[in-house]
Amino acid sequence: MRVGTAAWERIDSIGECFEEISRTGPVASVTVLADRFGRIATDLRVSLTDRCNLRCTYCMPAEGLAWMPQPQQLTDDEVNRLVRIAVEQLGVTEVRFTGGEPLIRRGLVGIVAAAARLDPRPQLSVTTNGIGLDRVAGALKEAGLNRVNVSLDTLDPARFHTLTRRDRHADVLAGLRAAADAGLTPVKINTVLMRGVNDDEAAALLQFALDHGYQLRFIEQMPLDAQHQWTRAEMVTADEILAALKPFDLRPDNVSRGTAPAETWLIPHHVDAAGEPARVGVIASVTRPFCGDCDRTRLTADGQIRNCLFATDESDLRKLLRDGAPDNEIADAWQVAMRGKRAGHGIDDPTFLQPARPMSAIGG
Ligand code: SAM
Ligand code: SF4
Repeated sequence: MRVGTAAWERIDSIGECFEEISRTGPVASVTVLADRFGRIATDLRVSLTDRCNLRCTYCMPAEGLAWMPQPQQLTDDEVNRLVRIAVEQLGVTEVRFTGGEPLIRRGLVGIVAAAARLDPRPQLSVTTNGIGLDRVAGALKEAGLNRVNVSLDTLDPARFHTLTRRDRHADVLAGLRAAADAGLTPVKINTVLMRGVNDDEAAALLQFALDHGYQLRFIEQMPLDAQHQWTRAEMVTADEILAALKPFDLRPDNVSRGTAPAETWLIPHHVDAAGEPARVGVIASVTRPFCGDCDRTRLTADGQIRNCLFATDESDLRKLLRDGAPDNEIADAWQVAMRGKRAGHGIDDPTFLQPARPMSAIGG
């Protein structure tokens, strides 16, 4: 797998530090999460719960899942400690809280506030289905949250019910408005298109986002559903999404994508809420993988480090925490976990195995 340009630029910038890692493996003085392919993880995804109040068909079965028993879940203090170690000792600069549905975690505002007090202060965001965001957006902003990603797959309430098996479309729209009003900007919308369900809504969703000053990103459906029903033939591809957006006359975006998963396009004659040229993004994890530039490290709600969404193994930091390990031991274990990251997710390999955990339990 080719290592992406952005990764090499970052390697250049940490120069000898990286050479040290390559030669000797993780050592106490090295303060980055590097893997064997030169990628440095600076973006931490923290899953705060595997529970959810929706049942999106591409994510969960109608009856839900066997939720993680409470004692297995990290406490707020344990989450705060691991986020602190990641930021202060391992070079993490961005923290995204997700789930499951992170807004149903009672301690969310306090966890955000603790992360915002760290030095250096990381960028903080939340990925949410938006339900209840209207009630908590102000408190999250005050706690130090920078912005939110809200998932919305349809503009039609009846379709929303079909897709999520719940009648909460109006709550999501209210959440989006509240996020913008609270200044959690840019407000981004995540959309998954499904063939024969909502794939005729690409243009309408983009128009909706433009009208309201939200930034839309389409995500290709990935084989991470609990039901294992994903098929490559059925998923809506980036090419199909872009074809559906033809009326917008999208133009290539010359801004470097860096480590961002979304490839972006400019939308002529439109500006975003900040007055910048409007853009739309496509996260083509399946048909145009960006693994070579990946800068993610993931912490599950039960304290396991995953070096990739598609990893089939995990590293247990909860045991270290609860056995009384000091910070440097935990940091070392995190570095070792990241060194084992594979070059790519391998969805196209005949030997590809879907991870045992579904997206909702990994943290998307
Ligand atoms: N519950 C929150 C939400 O829906 O935004 C956060 C967790 S959810 C797992 C994070 C993102 O993953 C959402 O935007 C969701 O649409 C997306 N997602 C879930 N299952 C997916 C799948 N199989 N393929 C692609 N994206 C998926
Ligand atoms: Fe819940 Fe998010 Fe999964 Fe939908 S995608 S079921 S909102 S965790």
